[in-house]
Amino acid sequence: MCGIVAYMGPRNGVPVVLDGLRKLEYRGYDSAGIAILNGKKIDIYRSVGKLIGLEDKIREEQLCGTPVIGHTRWATHGRPTEANAHPHKYEGVVVVHNGIIENYLELRHELAASGHEFSSETDTEVISHLIVQELRLGADFNQAVSRSLLRTRGTYALAVLYEKEPEKMIVARQSS
Ligand code: GLU
Repeated sequence: MCGIVAYMGPRNGVPVVLDGLRKLEYRGYDSAGIAILNGKKIDIYRSVGKLIGLEDKIREEQLCGTPVIGHTRWATHGRPTEANAHPHKYEGVVVVHNGIIENYLELRHELAASGHEFSSETDTEVISHLIVQELRLGADFNQAVSRSLLRTRGTYALAVLYEKEPEKMIVARQSS
């Protein structure tokens, strides 16, 4: 279980997403995190434990922007650490995920063998790496996400951002 909130629009997405996460917090107390577009970069803020930890961490930053995606985690694969907290970012691709990627070990071994370096223990992280692999092969952002999801087995609700196409957010779900 986990909570996902995503916002893209004319307002500052940070309070919108934090309000939403507060309502969904019961879905996961292991960690909380947000990703926010900051100029041409997507910045990630994550904290172990309840949402209040994340709120304390970002209070001074006075973050303002859109799009914003947020997540409260209930860990299924990987300990409740900051490195395992969502969002996961790899080469500009940012993912939050609810669910379980059942074949993540197999995918992780395959991606690692072709040079991908992982920074978490989660099943989720293979999704951002699969998307990057497809982008490197020449797929556009939409194709990269849909081709990647064809390779996964399991359940997901996802929100995905990509630094090179900051005006776009892709969401997808299967049995989550
Ligand atoms: N399987 C993912 C993880 O453990 C997502 C868990 C969730 O739905 O919060 O990080």
